Amino acid sequence: AVGSPDGLIAGLNPAQAAAVTHAGAPLLIIAGAGSGKTRVLTHRIAHLLATGRARPGEILAITFTNKAAAEMRERVTALVGPAGGRMWVSTFHSACVRILRREHEAAGLRSTFSIYDAADSTRLVTLIVRELGIDPKRFTPKAFAHRISDLKNELVTPAEYAEKAVTTNPFERYLAEVYTAYASRLAAANALDFDDLIMRTVQLFQAKPAVAEMYRRRFRHILVDEYQDTNHAQYVLVRELVGGPGTSGEGSALPPAELTVVGDSDQSIYAFRGATIRNIEEFEQDYPSARTILLEQNYRSTQNILDAANAVISRNTGRRPKNLFTDSGPGAPITGYVADSEHDEARWISSEIDRLADEHGVRPRDIAVFYRTNAQSRALEEVFIRAGQPYKVIGGTRFYERREIKDAIAYLRAVDNPDDDVSLRRILNVPKRGLGEKAEAALAEHGARHHVSFSDAIADAAGAPRPGQSETEAQGAPEVEGLATRARAQVTRFHELLEGLRHQQASGDGVADVLDSALDASGYLAELRASDDPQDATRVENLAELHSVAADFQAANPEGSLADFLERVSLVADSDQLPSAGGAVGEEEAAQAHEAAEAGQITLMTVHTAKGLEFPVVFVTGMEDGTFPHSRALAEDSELAEERRLAYVALTRARERLYVTRAAVRSAWGQATAMPASRFLDDIPPETMDWKRLASSMEALRGGGTGWGSSWGDEGSGRRGSRSRGSWHSDDDDFAPPIGARPARTGKIGRVETAKDRAAKRAA
Ligand code: ATP
Ligand code: MG
Repeated sequence: AVGSPDGLIAGLNPAQAAAVTHAGAPLLIIAGAGSGKTRVLTHRIAHLLATGRARPGEILAITFTNKAAAEMRERVTALVGPAGGRMWVSTFHSACVRILRREHEAAGLRSTFSIYDAADSTRLVTLIVRELGIDPKRFTPKAFAHRISDLKNELVTPAEYAEKAVTTNPFERYLAEVYTAYASRLAAANALDFDDLIMRTVQLFQAKPAVAEMYRRRFRHILVDEYQDTNHAQYVLVRELVGGPGTSGEGSALPPAELTVVGDSDQSIYAFRGATIRNIEEFEQDYPSARTILLEQNYRSTQNILDAANAVISRNTGRRPKNLFTDSGPGAPITGYVADSEHDEARWISSEIDRLADEHGVRPRDIAVFYRTNAQSRALEEVFIRAGQPYKVIGGTRFYERREIKDAIAYLRAVDNPDDDVSLRRILNVPKRGLGEKAEAALAEHGARHHVSFSDAIADAAGAPRPGQSETEAQGAPEVEGLATRARAQVTRFHELLEGLRHQQASGDGVADVLDSALDASGYLAELRASDDPQDATRVENLAELHSVAADFQAANPEGSLADFLERVSLVADSDQLPSAGGAVGEEEAAQAHEAAEAGQITLMTVHTAKGLEFPVVFVTGMEDGTFPHSRALAEDSELAEERRLAYVALTRARERLYVTRAAVRSAWGQATAMPASRFLDDIPPETMDWKRLASSMEALRGGGTGWGSSWGDEGSGRRGSRSRGSWHSDDDDFAPPIGARPARTGKIGRVETAKDRAAKRAA
């Protein structure tokens, strides 16, 4: 059932049709959001197959995520039949894994090579840093790991870097050593990290032109979506696959492969991961015979939505101006809402979703709610849970399943209930305090031998009374065997830490205070803050969210105990884990219910993960200066420009209805902070907007305006230089959020007010 070539062109506009039927020279399609770039790629593949210009095996299509790849394959298959299944449609990383597995001998690898994820590589770097005797506090392993990643994206080998790093900068000198050691350790372990996948494939092609030639013979058509977000290594990889001058295929009789790339510089949002719009902007220099096709008609959104998005992006300088238009008419105005707080924002969105369902028959699956950073999902999740609205969080673990949240809760549980072995063991060596598996085993064995709890074993090791024991009874406690002196000292400190927290709780401090003390005194927070891993900045934000939950609880239940709080959290966390449909028993039924639920869920995601997608109804939340644009981007023009592109991506996901909301006050660490309106809101033409509420109650009192400034502002940070990516990889569609522009949470944000501080304040 091969679709007819004409049928594949039928519904396209002339520019799209030209792009689909073009043959020969490299083809660049640049166009704004929703103009059918991805659709053109899909139809172009189908057309190649339908006209017999290509066999499925000759096609290599690169998409940004595996999900996008699956969708594209599905659509091509729908257009041309099952032959579509034999094409290579994948991300850069998956394609490279396939090539390296096949060519492992030529690449100098064993076929069984393993792939290290970001956590694995950071662990390895940590080991190396320790072995080289580098002070990990001054030069963190994560900083090295990120720089190594950057170097690999630039195709700089350890030897090349060592040559360049003749410098007085100590970090760079160490980096040369660490990078070299890291590479040899990976080789010894028969492992590759994510960046290696691309770099090693490029190196393979360049070192073994015959291998490259084989792939060039095979792939006669190469198509790349979202080309604006390729990095240098990916750019070179594409060149090598195409062949021609300047590549390992230079001088070969084989004509270059047909290359089609599509993209939009205005949607480049991964600069922090090494992506460079140079690749799309200089395509015509790289491929002098290239043909460029511009698409101008938007088929996704209404004119109001486009006007808003165009207005926002037009403020970026140095871009090719373009104006998208649509035939679909103005559509509904963009709805705006100014909430008092993030909770109010979430409640309003929830009720608006109900209204859309009642009055317009909008289904949950038609709705997406976007936020700038993952931590913002919590307020939304809580309201959706309470309202019984089914939702799924894309690209992030649900709030209470996040590691740092579970760690923090484990501390509270251990304080509340000394017999909670599971929680105790979870935090015994979190943060690392030299109580590894051996120490844990010794304590566990002691407990088993003497029929006492893990917490009693800890007390015995610390030479302290077991809970409920007196000092004298403690004297007779048995020795804990198999504990080294250092470990014993650490167990004692751990015991004292917990006892201190229990004491604090018993003396009447609230949950939020105990939580703050636990995170502070354990060094948990300090470790995250000192880290250079952008993910750890996210963790701090999430803990700040948990603090807010605790503070809210405290405010609402002045008499509430720690046990009450933990019970409440368990209930929310539990309902968190239920599939929204619920009820099904058998495995198959459960799977079906899950799928049904999946289809009937509101989508919650960061703007980064929304790239390339579209939804009939979109809520863009947290439109505040300091949230979106992110506080860390405020001080630097280039980062602000990237935030603006991100806003353009957000607004252009909407097909029919677009909402923009902001909270006048947002809380972090229980500290309510006034947030000025996002500067992007100012750029949206007022005539396209319908404000349901123009100012918060506070702002209305003060006569509007946003003069409070933001305490989230630039807080000066040692992290400025770490514009590295988080631990995402493109084999994982749930990749981590964009963290490059995240503010370093030093100082104020992390400063937790304790009950004592407040008492002191009151006294003053
Ligand atoms: P983005 O920049 O966001 O990735 P895009 O340029 O890739 O957007 P597509 O996702 O391909 O745009 O298309 C946007 C929407 O417009 C899709 O729903 C697509 O099916 C529809 N569309 C594109 N071209 C046409 C057309 N000629 N006729 C009808 N619908 C079209
Ligand atoms: Mg697209």
